[in-house]
Amino acid sequence: MDNATSQKLRHIAEACLLAKTHTGTLPPVEDTQKLLHELQVHQIELEMQNDELREAKDTNNIALYRYTELFDFAPVAYFALDRTSKITQVNLMGASLLGLERLKLTGRLFLHYMTQGYRVKLNDFLTKAFDTGNKQNCEILIHVSNRSLWLSLESSIGLTETECLVAMIDITERKQAEEKLKRAASVFSHAHEGIMITDASGNITEVNDAFSNITGYSAPEVIGKNPKILQSGRQKSEFYDEMWHSIRTQGKWSGEVWNRRKNGELYAEMLTISAVKNTMGLVEHYVSLFTDITTMKTMTKSHGQLERIAHFDMLTNLPNRILLADRLSQAMLQCQRQNQTLAVVFIDLDGFKLINDSYGHNVGDELLIALSQRMKNALRGCDTLSRIGGDEFIAVMVDLEKIEDCEPLLTRLLKAINKPITVSAILMKVSASIGVTFYPQDCVDADQLMRHADQAMYIAKKAGKNRYHMFDTVRDNAIKTRRQSIGDLRAALERREFILYYQPKVNMRTGKVIGLEALIRWQHPTRGILPPLDFLPLIEGHKCSLELGEWVIGAALSQISHWQNMGVNLSVSVNISAYQLQQDNFVARLEALLNDNPDVNPRCLDLEILETSALSDISQVSNTIKACHKLGVRFALDDFGTGYSSLSHLKHLPAYLIKIDQSFVSDMLDDMDDLAIVEGVIGLAKAFHREVIAEGVETVAHGKALLKLGCELAQGYGISRPMPADDIPNWVSNWKADVSWQADE
Ligand code: C2E
Ligand code: CA
Ligand code: CA
Repeated sequence: MDNATSQKLRHIAEACLLAKTHTGTLPPVEDTQKLLHELQVHQIELEMQNDELREAKDTNNIALYRYTELFDFAPVAYFALDRTSKITQVNLMGASLLGLERLKLTGRLFLHYMTQGYRVKLNDFLTKAFDTGNKQNCEILIHVSNRSLWLSLESSIGLTETECLVAMIDITERKQAEEKLKRAASVFSHAHEGIMITDASGNITEVNDAFSNITGYSAPEVIGKNPKILQSGRQKSEFYDEMWHSIRTQGKWSGEVWNRRKNGELYAEMLTISAVKNTMGLVEHYVSLFTDITTMKTMTKSHGQLERIAHFDMLTNLPNRILLADRLSQAMLQCQRQNQTLAVVFIDLDGFKLINDSYGHNVGDELLIALSQRMKNALRGCDTLSRIGGDEFIAVMVDLEKIEDCEPLLTRLLKAINKPITVSAILMKVSASIGVTFYPQDCVDADQLMRHADQAMYIAKKAGKNRYHMFDTVRDNAIKTRRQSIGDLRAALERREFILYYQPKVNMRTGKVIGLEALIRWQHPTRGILPPLDFLPLIEGHKCSLELGEWVIGAALSQISHWQNMGVNLSVSVNISAYQLQQDNFVARLEALLNDNPDVNPRCLDLEILETSALSDISQVSNTIKACHKLGVRFALDDFGTGYSSLSHLKHLPAYLIKIDQSFVSDMLDDMDDLAIVEGVIGLAKAFHREVIAEGVETVAHGKALLKLGCELAQGYGISRPMPADDIPNWVSNWKADVSWQADE
């Protein structure tokens, strides 16, 4: 009790005593009175004090009761802890927090409920609370029977020096929510995807770092704005209509969008927009998530572009030669499998160069584009039209049942090209020449098919343009065979596979061998000895026949020389084609050959002119013959009677001998017409003072008949078949004319 209070108490006690004295029971005596007074005052003081104490105790009891109530049933967990965290007291909430009865908890260390990191934290908390006596706060994580709980701790001022009352609140839920948010925030800011959140009306409320990295806009620059600021204009309004339709009906949309960065650059993004609704089902905001796919896009684009350049014509967008070749081979396979026909159509514009030259290349290019479109329209969907260069196109028409099926298509194609066309305000009318070939009728590879169609186009062009021409496979095959034969013959010449056989010519009446005809043979390495008609016609009119012709003359001359050396003197006749005879250098070549064999008398060489009907310039040939005469070489007209102009030939060509063709001779015995011809030829020869020889004398009877008609010279199987040179000397020395030939007259 402090001084002021006891002083006050004393005053009240004195006043009480004074009041009692006035009511007057005892008379006051000075000293005793004073002491008594003091005692009385003191007693009253004590009584009052006692009352006060009783009162205070009651109040205290009530307070304690209230406190215990409050403590025990507080909705907050209370723990009284000492410095080491030993629990000295705990309320019901605290006990339920740790899942144990209160009795069992007292004495335990609170530290045992947590891991090392949080123990340090709790220690720190307690030390500070005890040392400073100030309120402390901290959050710790404890583990209670497999559960983790976040607790928020607050110390009250220490109850005693050894105890501190700590209030603990379970903040697990809040903590988890916070963690989740933190994670979300971290994902939001660290995501590589751009994230943009807009409110329900579409204004940007939040963007992340990736958004800024991709678009170039910082958050403050876009917040509150409409995402339209990113639009590039590359998508039409329908695109956005569709996007919003999807968001409205399905809650989301994803797809590729071309947008524009802050610096104006276009970029492609893969975008997903989701509508986020609240519990009422109303859209609260839209979340857009996007990745920059520009590099990927441009990469695939350039890959695609390479692909295009490799297979398509850049100007017209039509397949190019490479793709065409591929499609054609495929179509050819298909044809084989399905027994169908395809047409390879070579289209070449007429006079395109002129258009290019007079209007410039741009106009030319535009024309090509326009025409290619027209041609495409004229064809069917299954056909392929390709541009293979300049003004050249190739169409492959498939699925044809027969060749004629393509004719209406070709007509349509020509018409489409021929229709007047306006390019760059210039009205033009162009046409095309078209060549066509068919597979498998033209049974060659894809490359050759295109070449054949090209050749046919060339013919269409020469025939007057604006038309189509079909490739002639028969003719082409002949040309091919010929080309092959020429090669073969050249090789045979080099390998010395040709030899000459000799067939004797005789005078039936005198029994003299007047000469030999040299007849060529091919000792073919696999086919045996081939007669001239098996190979000569194949090279007719070709340079290579000249080489062979010269070889024959040379070989005959050296054979004559060889026989001469053996003492066999025989003249040899050599067959000369009209083509060879008409060569400008014929005389010179002959002279050279004669010079190569100087020991041979040119008189020993006769030349038989074949196919006289093929002689075009009679007077020139006549001059040639005369020139040859000067060299000493004489001529015979072979195969006389065949062809039409024999008579005029006889008149104009200075040949000393005419040969009646074997075809008339061999049939003269049975065929009166042939007999008449033979007779006529003999008469003509006489009239023109020429000698006459009959070939094809197959029997003695033929000889007899000829002798009767006045023809003494003969050649034929009836006398001798052509034979190798080596057999000739023997044959010549042994041969005797049939006796019946001399018997007659
Ligand atoms: P050609 O000049 O009229 O030659 C006569 C052909 O009639 C030879 O045929 C000969 O074997 C054949 N022959 C001879 N006697 C008879 C017979 O009694 N009956 C029958 N059925 N045929 C007989 P080959 O050797 O096959 O020659 C055929 C043709 O080839 C020759 O007709 C000639 O036009 C040409 N020829 C032969 N050798 C040469 C040559 O070196 N150069 C040129 N340019 N043509 C040649
Ligand atoms: Ca002949
Ligand atoms: Ca003949």
